[in-house]
Amino acid sequence: MRVSVLASGSKGNSVFIEMDDTRLLVDAGVGVRRIERELAELSVPLESLDAVFVTHEHSDHVKGLATLLRHTDAPVYARPGTLRAMAAGADVMPEERLFAVHDAVEVGPLRVSAFDIPHDAADPVGYEIAGSRKCTVATDLGYVTDTVRSAMEGADVLVFEANHDRQMLRQGPYPWPLKQRILGNRGHLANDEAGRALTSLKSRPKKIILAHLSETNNRPSIAEETVSRAFAEIGVTSLPLAVALQDEMVTA
Ligand SMILES: [Zn+2]
Ligand SMILES: [Zn+2]
Repeated sequence: MRVSVLASGSKGNSVFIEMDDTRLLVDAGVGVRRIERELAELSVPLESLDAVFVTHEHSDHVKGLATLLRHTDAPVYARPGTLRAMAAGADVMPEERLFAVHDAVEVGPLRVSAFDIPHDAADPVGYEIAGSRKCTVATDLGYVTDTVRSAMEGADVLVFEANHDRQMLRQGPYPWPLKQRILGNRGHLANDEAGRALTSLKSRPKKIILAHLSETNNRPSIAEETVSRAFAEIGVTSLPLAVALQDEMVTA
C-alpha cells in the first residue's frame, strides 16, 4: 500500500491511496496540475485513477474536482447530501460521473466505507479503505465520536486531523465567531484532542499522518510534539508519525 497526502490544510486537500493495484483519490481540493504533477512523482498517471471519493463539499476539498473530471474517467463517490451541495455550487459537474455512497462501495478488490464525522457541512464523512491493508482518512472533525474511533482502530495508515493548537487559536488573529466555529463540535480537531484520541485506541495505527493543519494556528513541529507527548505519557516513544503539509506532498 502507498498513501501520499498530496496537499493538506485549509487551502486544499487531496490524498492518494494505492492498494491491491487499485488507485483512489480522497478529495480534490487543489488544482489538477498540482495533482497531476505529484502523482507523476509517484509514477501514477492521472488517467489511471480508479475512483475519487469526496468527504464533503467545502471548497478546500472539491475546488479541483470539476477540472479533474475532464482529465480522468474515474467515477466520483460522495454522500447524497454532499452531491446535492456540490450541485448547488459554482462548478458544473457531469451527473453521470457522480455516484452516491451511503455506507460502503466496492472498487475492484477494495471496500471503501464512508463514516459520519461531526463537521459543519451537508453530510460529511471520513473514509475507511480496506483490502489487504487498511487506510483511514479522518479530517475536518469537531470531535472524535465512537464511529470515528472504530474506523481508526487497527489502520495500517491513518490520516488524521490535528488542525490547531488551542492556545495559538485563542490568542491568534481570527475573529471570535470563526474561532468559535473551529473550536465547536462541528469544527476542527485540536492537536491535544488528536493526541487523546490516538492514544485511546486499542489497536494503534502502524503509521500516522497528522493532517489539515492550520497555517495560522498551528505549526508542524507543535502538532508533532503535542501528539508525541501524549504517546510518551502512555509509554510509547517510537512512533511512526508524519505531518502532512499544504504545499508539499508527504508519503507515509
Ligand atoms: Zn470542512
Ligand atoms: Zn477542510
